[in-house]
Amino acid sequence: MRNRIAAANWKMNLTLDQACALAGTLVETLKSIDLGGKQVILATPYLYLSTVADIIKSNKNIFVAAQDCSEHLSGAYTGEVSATMLYSAGITHVIIGHSERRTYHQEKDEALKTKVENALTNNLKVIFCCGEQLSHREQMKHFNLIEGQLWHGLFHLDETQIINCAIAYEPVWAIGTGVTASPAQAAEMHSFIRKLLIEKYGESTANEISILYGGSCNEKNAAELFSNTDIDGGLIGGASLKADSFIKIIQSL
Ligand code: PEP
Repeated sequence: MRNRIAAANWKMNLTLDQACALAGTLVETLKSIDLGGKQVILATPYLYLSTVADIIKSNKNIFVAAQDCSEHLSGAYTGEVSATMLYSAGITHVIIGHSERRTYHQEKDEALKTKVENALTNNLKVIFCCGEQLSHREQMKHFNLIEGQLWHGLFHLDETQIINCAIAYEPVWAIGTGVTASPAQAAEMHSFIRKLLIEKYGESTANEISILYGGSCNEKNAAELFSNTDIDGGLIGGASLKADSFIKIIQSL
């Protein structure tokens, strides 16, 4: 059975006080909500990871994630944080390949592939992001694009490794824009990704892998998106910064 996941991507937002207050409110509110096996993941800035991990530790369904990790494991890479370091600090998850990293930091498939390997070798669970630009979709190249991102960044893994990954489909044109993919567009791509997983890993492994939707997902559209069989939850940016909205999204899982 694959996990249903609401993952918050706080990006470079919130002061430390605000981050602690938000994590505290989530823990407090989620005390009275039966999450069953559903997972909540908070991807915080590196600087806040340990503090937030401490705040959420009483709830076994909440985890913290780094928003990235280095392609290197240690050494003279000023400003970088490695998967080894994250694991040593008790962090359990990491996002790899977010479109903002691909765009603003020119992260390419080869580097992402190495990051994924480093993360898994260091016992981190991976949320691997893929997503097309609007121009790809307009030219009907979006399926090829996603297939390429998965084959080059993720599908080198074997079955024992891929089950420690979730995939986040995040159309770049929907991230932070207020324009959400329609439930039909999201469902179409999620079922395409599931098909690719089945072809590469077989049905039973493919059915263990959560595929999350990201891109202007909010408390109003989450329930409809998550009702699709191949949409196992969301990677949420803006709406995860407000406790009320994010809790409603969690309740929509
Ligand atoms: C994201 O950046 O992963 C994201 C989905 O952002 P937003 O929800 O703000 O579109």
